[in-house]
Amino acid sequence: MILQKYILPLGGTESDNTAIKGIARAYISKGNHIITSSIEHPAILESCKSLEAEGFKVTYLPVDSNGYINLNELKRSITSSTTLISIMYANNEIGTIQPLHAISKIAKEYNVLFHTDAVQAGGVLPLDVEELGVDSLSLSAHKFYGPKGVGVLYLKNGVMLNKFMTGGHQERGIRAGTENVAGIVGTAKALELAYQNLEINNFKIKKLRDYCLNRIVNTFPNVKVNGGITNRLPGNCNISFKNINGNKLLQRLDANGICLSTGSACSSELATPSHVLSAIKTPKEYIHGSLRITIGKNNTKEEIDYLFYCLKKILQFD
Ligand SMILES: *Cc1c(COP(=O)(O)O)cnc(C)c1O
Repeated sequence: MILQKYILPLGGTESDNTAIKGIARAYISKGNHIITSSIEHPAILESCKSLEAEGFKVTYLPVDSNGYINLNELKRSITSSTTLISIMYANNEIGTIQPLHAISKIAKEYNVLFHTDAVQAGGVLPLDVEELGVDSLSLSAHKFYGPKGVGVLYLKNGVMLNKFMTGGHQERGIRAGTENVAGIVGTAKALELAYQNLEINNFKIKKLRDYCLNRIVNTFPNVKVNGGITNRLPGNCNISFKNINGNKLLQRLDANGICLSTGSACSSELATPSHVLSAIKTPKEYIHGSLRITIGKNNTKEEIDYLFYCLKKILQFD
């Protein structure tokens, strides 16, 4: 079914699943190949895996040691049966921002659709879908201080999507069922608030992040920053301590009232190393000792100083 420019009220995982599976299946008569990156969120990676089980071919583009895809490699991987490219706007573990403009230019040149998982960019980076040149984009409200379990799937004019929910005729038959009105209103309000004072907030957040990063790097000898620093979300700080068990460190910090994560918030209980840290070829002495410090608009310098004090105590650098 062909949609007019359209927005569906779905959470991050729901949006990614709907876009990847819905678009790939709708364009099957054109081809069965899709391209994504190796550092996507599981919502994208697992959707691709389930498409592979249906007979689709998926290319998982590698990233360099800073966490960025290579545009020439992207071009080279496009074939006559490629229908969709899905590359995330910003990474949820290391915060690296991919070159969306350049990707959308390539997608247009080769007549391939372009979806972006923009969940980490929502409320932080510019989201003008026309300016970005994307055909499909997903957001999650709780990532920008909005309600949980709801978000946005944007679809450009004319993008075809297979029905993923059958039933009544809500949302032009694409998403049958009564909408979560409270969630939709909450998402819209949260998004509006997030883009007020955006530059001031981002500036303040980045200053705190850099302060945090510099203090850690200048104090501890065996520490490594994960991911490139130039094109990166302002509040993301991901570091690894050599030969340290990240989960134990996390527990000790938690006992001191500090809530952090070893990698992605969703999978931190898993013992296998992060697929993102593996993809950027983090050395094995560092891969289990990662700590992701996410700074938001309500964090203060005093909190960073307290974190630093606790880290010194726990790592015995007093
Ligand atoms: C959080 C996150 C998701 C999943 O969003 P939910 O709304 O929690 O399902 C998807 N992609 C990225 C990049 C995320 O950070």
